[in-house]
Amino acid sequence: MQSNPAASYRAPRLYIGGEWRTGSAQTSNPIINPATEEVMAELRHASAQDLEAALVAVEQGFAVWRKTPAAERQRILLRGMEILRSRREEVAYCLTLEQGKPLAQARSEVDVAAGMVQWYAEQARRAYGRILPGPAEDTDYEVRKEPVGPCLLLSPWNVPLILAARKIGGALAAGCSCIIKPPEETPAAVAKMVECFIEAGVPPGVINLVFGIPQAISEQLIASDIIRKVSFTGSVGVGQQLARLAAGGLKRMTLELGGHSPVIVFDDVDVDACVRQLVAAKFRNAGQLCHAPTRFFVQKAVYGRFVDRFAQAAAKLQVGDGLDERTEMGPLANARRVSAISELVEATKAKATLVAGGSRVLERGYFFSPTVFADVELDARAMRDEPFGPIALIRSFDMPAEALQMANATRFGLGSYVFTDSARLQRQMVDGLRVGSVAINSTIATVAEAPFGGVGDSGYGYESGEEGLEGYLHTKFVHRTQAV
Ligand code: NAD
Repeated sequence: MQSNPAASYRAPRLYIGGEWRTGSAQTSNPIINPATEEVMAELRHASAQDLEAALVAVEQGFAVWRKTPAAERQRILLRGMEILRSRREEVAYCLTLEQGKPLAQARSEVDVAAGMVQWYAEQARRAYGRILPGPAEDTDYEVRKEPVGPCLLLSPWNVPLILAARKIGGALAAGCSCIIKPPEETPAAVAKMVECFIEAGVPPGVINLVFGIPQAISEQLIASDIIRKVSFTGSVGVGQQLARLAAGGLKRMTLELGGHSPVIVFDDVDVDACVRQLVAAKFRNAGQLCHAPTRFFVQKAVYGRFVDRFAQAAAKLQVGDGLDERTEMGPLANARRVSAISELVEATKAKATLVAGGSRVLERGYFFSPTVFADVELDARAMRDEPFGPIALIRSFDMPAEALQMANATRFGLGSYVFTDSARLQRQMVDGLRVGSVAINSTIATVAEAPFGGVGDSGYGYESGEEGLEGYLHTKFVHRTQAV
């Protein structure tokens, strides 16, 4: 890579109906490197006419793609991911420049994104229907799976590539066409992935890429009868707005709206090993992950040691520009996150003991120190609002039922983590946690093969796994008898 990778960063263009074109709206937004606060490029937005063209294209694309055999769709998607993997370094640099995460995490994001699409591509051939015994000799009952139709995919800025890949992979594997609107602040890595799909042979109109004012885009596109499904990952407030828009046309929806994941640590664990895993998971992507471990409930006998080790490990993390290979935690992704995290930290100081971090660091860039609070009171705002940043909240508990009660005391229900070797406690926690996933003695809450989704304010529907593909399919019942 060259000495100043930012110099080669380019804002992507729109891709509509098989052609790259410059957005024709009067609006645009700057793309800022969060590590330096430098404007790297200006992103031109789609006009209402561009969006109309995308709707025409996605409808035409659907007519072609739904007739493309699953084996052919699989071949094209797998080829696309081969191309993406061959460009891993270029795409990883782009992710680090626009989003801030350390290069090692950006490289891993490319691998995981490719793996997500690969799994969907393989699963495309297993979207089985079934034949049921009919009531008479000449009667068949058949259940068929068909693609739901053109989809609008709205993906966020924290893990731009994986979250876009999960949506595009599911839609295309199922036989749907799509309009993807990646985040305007981190647009280029997703556009590079779209290029890979195009080079692999995805026909014109099957993937369309647009950028603009998010609200204007979703209002125009969701109002169109052409769009049959909306998939969104982002905040609760925006998810609610989009659900209201989708309700107008009774459109299918998948909503992944964040979390406030509890971690329950029992006193039989190896504290050092457990802290090592949890600190890495907590501060990965500067804590800007919907399933990031956030509220740590630690049993009394190991509480003191856990807090000390956790605070020491957090304070030692190397914070800096993600392009520096020594960096372990990069900046927050944008200036809004810096104000949100600063405010939340200030509010939490009155309700907890600050044991690490707690302030902005470095002169330039959106950097915030890895922050750890102990003895956090249950009514602290941070225990209720999703921090979505590098803040760990630790509190002790005595009995398992108390841990469960505190863990379930938010409106979110996405990831959760349990650390104990006791089969009885593992079972009690799995039964009692009101969440979409439970990781036991592990910090991996989401994989390509299994469904990822939440309950309560975390949203509804699933991504990944069989259930993820199912979200892009509808089920048709066919009742067939011999000629009358
Ligand atoms: P925000 O609520 O303004 O936006 C959240 C996301 O939704 C962004 O990607 C944005 O581009 C998109 N968006 C906003 N309005 C939209 C609309 N009308 N139509 C379509 N997309 C729209 O907040 P923000 O400052 O960008 O992000 C902060 C909050 O968002 C965090 O508190 C976090 O809870 C949530 N978030 C969650 C995830 C996740 O993985 N679940 C990812 C990113 C952000």
